[in-house]
Amino acid sequence: MSRRDGLWFVESPPRFVCTECGECCRRPGFVSLTRDEANAAARHELGEGADYRALLGEAWTERGEFLEIDVPGPSGDACYFLDERGRCRIHAVKPAQCRSYPFWPELLESPVTWRAEGSACEGIGQGEPWSPEAILARLEADS
Ligand code: SF4
Ligand code: SF4
Repeated sequence: MSRRDGLWFVESPPRFVCTECGECCRRPGFVSLTRDEANAAARHELGEGADYRALLGEAWTERGEFLEIDVPGPSGDACYFLDERGRCRIHAVKPAQCRSYPFWPELLESPVTWRAEGSACEGIGQGEPWSPEAILARLEADS
């Protein structure tokens, strides 16, 4: 059995392109980072040797091996890392959760779940179709 068997997006490759609207960085929820990702963000923001405690203070919750940062944060209406131009300040080192969106397993479960996410992400349904190989590579890279 091939890993592609039974996957709806093999028959109907979904379209997606990020318009950089920034809406996924404003939706209520949380950003989940590993400590390595949080430390990479700290070094990116504060310089070599910085760790996540210096960057985030107490603005995180521990969940097993992950740290969660609430969105919106206590002092704004968006993710802590979104700048005033609507860009991610830590784009170069942003966590896997953000790099892989919207290609998350739960959103790729069926055409229905994928299309439903289109109400939250305007890039879904736009742009070129994504090949199954590209989607599977994303899923595997971020699992
Ligand atoms: S909501 Fe979708 S289109 Fe907008 S920035 Fe996020 S991924 Fe890109
Ligand atoms: S870390 Fe960056 S990409 Fe992820 S939600 Fe925050 S601003 Fe958006």
